[in-house]
Amino acid sequence: MKTIDKLYINGQWYQPDSSELLLITNPATEELCASVPKGNEKDVEIAIAAARQALQGWATTSAKARADLLIAAAKEMENRYDDLVEAHVVTMGCPRSIAGAYHVDAAIEGMRYYANLAQEMEVVKEKGNVLLLKEPVGVCAFINPWNYPLHQLTGKVAPALAAGCTIITKPAEQTPLPDFIMAEIFHKIGLPAGVFNLVTGSGRDIGPLMSSHPQVDMVSFTGSTAAGVNVAIAAAPTVKRVCQELGGKSALIITEDADLEAAVRYGVEDVMANTGQTCNALTRMFVPLSQYEQAVKLAASIALEQKVGDPLDESTTMGPMASQRQRETVLKYIRLGIEEGARLVTGGLNMPEGLMKGAYVKPTIFADVTNEMIIAREEIFGPVLCMLAYDDIEQAITMANDTIYGLSSGVFAKDQGSALKIARRLQAGQCYIQGSYFSTEAPFGGYKQSGNGREWGEQGMHEYIETKAIICG
Ligand code: NAD
Repeated sequence: MKTIDKLYINGQWYQPDSSELLLITNPATEELCASVPKGNEKDVEIAIAAARQALQGWATTSAKARADLLIAAAKEMENRYDDLVEAHVVTMGCPRSIAGAYHVDAAIEGMRYYANLAQEMEVVKEKGNVLLLKEPVGVCAFINPWNYPLHQLTGKVAPALAAGCTIITKPAEQTPLPDFIMAEIFHKIGLPAGVFNLVTGSGRDIGPLMSSHPQVDMVSFTGSTAAGVNVAIAAAPTVKRVCQELGGKSALIITEDADLEAAVRYGVEDVMANTGQTCNALTRMFVPLSQYEQAVKLAASIALEQKVGDPLDESTTMGPMASQRQRETVLKYIRLGIEEGARLVTGGLNMPEGLMKGAYVKPTIFADVTNEMIIAREEIFGPVLCMLAYDDIEQAITMANDTIYGLSSGVFAKDQGSALKIARRLQAGQCYIQGSYFSTEAPFGGYKQSGNGREWGEQGMHEYIETKAIICG
C-alpha cells in the first residue's frame, strides 16, 4: 500500500489543508493499493497562485531551455519506466506485460515531440506590415480521466510547457499515481517552482473552482461529455479558453471488397484494448449484409482469444475494468443490450471462467444491433462490440454519422484509395484506415459532442498559444 500525504505545489511537497484522503482500490485484487490527499479549494487557490506567480518567468525563458527540460523529463521517465508501468498495473489493473506499450511509450515520445516544437514559439512571421507573434495562453488548469492517466497528462503538460504556460493539474480520483511520479520527475530535473502544480481531489469538489477561477486562463478537460459541459459552463463567465476532449461512439466501416478477416480482427482487438476503456475505440462495426454472419463468427472467435485475468500473469491480455463501478456500468449496458433484442454472440454478464473476484468483464460481442438501440448510441466504455449490418455503402456512412459523437472512425476497404473516399465523408476528428494506429503527429479530438479541442500533433500545441499581431506604421 502506497501512502502519499502531500501535494506538489510551488516546487515543494506541500501539506494539504485537510487530512482527508482518497483511497484507491486495486481492481484486480479488490484490496486498497494507495491513498493520496483529498485536496480542497484552499489547496487549489494556493496552487493557482503559485502557477500565476511563476508564469512571467517561465513564459520568458528561451524555447531551448524549455525544450531541454522536456527532454530531461523524457529521460527521467525512461529511468522511472518500471514505476510508471506499476502505477497503471495497481490502479487500473492493466496487464503488466502490456502496460508499457499501452500507457508509457507514447507519453515519453510525446515529451520529446513537443520539445522539438518549442522553438516554434520564437518564430515571428511577417505579413506585409504585420508581425505575428506567439505567446503562451497563461495559467492552465488540467482535469483528466482514469483510462489513460499518464498519456492524458503528457498530452496536455508537454505542449503547455513547450509553449511557456504554467499548470495546475488534477488527475482522476482512481489513478493519481502517474501524476505523482511526474511531479517527482519535474522536481528532480529542476523545473522552476510553480510551473507544475499537482492537486488531487474530487472532481465535483474542486473541478468547478479550477474551471471558473479568474486567475486561470485556460482549462483543458478530458472526460465524460456531461462533466465537460459543466466545466465549460463554469468557465464561461471569465471567458477562458476551454478545450474539451470527451466521449465517443466511433464507427468502423468494413466494405464488401475488404479483407474481412483482417478487418474484423483489427476491429475486435481495437475495442478490447485497455479492457475497452478507450475513448476513440471503434465500438460500432458496420459490415455488409452479404458477409455479416461470417464476420460475426470471426469476431466471436477473435474475442475468445483474449486471455482475461491476473494483470501480473505474463500471458494475460486483458485485465479487469479499472473499478467495480465501471464494471457495473458495463454490465448494465450488456443487460440492456440483451433486453433490447441484440444477439449476445459471446461474453455476457458472468465472470470470466476461473475468476472469483475483481472487476472483470468478459469480452462481449453483440450482433443484430440496430443504430437506434441504446447500446449503439451511448458510450459503454468496456470490452463490448456492437455489430451492425448494412445494405449499401451510402447507408453505412449515414448510420456511422448518425450519432451525437464524432471522436474517431475507421475504414477497412479494398485499398487505401477506396478507404480514403469513405474517410473523407465521416464526421469525426480522426479516421483510421486500413488498420492504422495512434500517431503522436495526428491531432486527436472530436467533432460534435466529442469535444472542441485537439491534443497531439502541431495542433495540440496551438491550444496553448495566443497569437499577437503587431501592425507596423
Ligand atoms: P469523468 O467525466 O467522470 O471524470 C473526468 C475527470 O473530471 C475526473 O478527473 C473527475 O474528477 C473530473 N470531474 C468530474 N466532475 C467534474 C466537474 N463537475 N467539474 C470538473 N471536473 C469534474 O470521466 P471518466 O469516467 O474519468 O473518464 C471516462 C470518460 O472520458 C469517457 O467518456 C471517455 O470517452 C472520456 N475520454 C475522452 C478522451 C478524449 O481524448 N476525447 C480521452 C479519454 C477519456
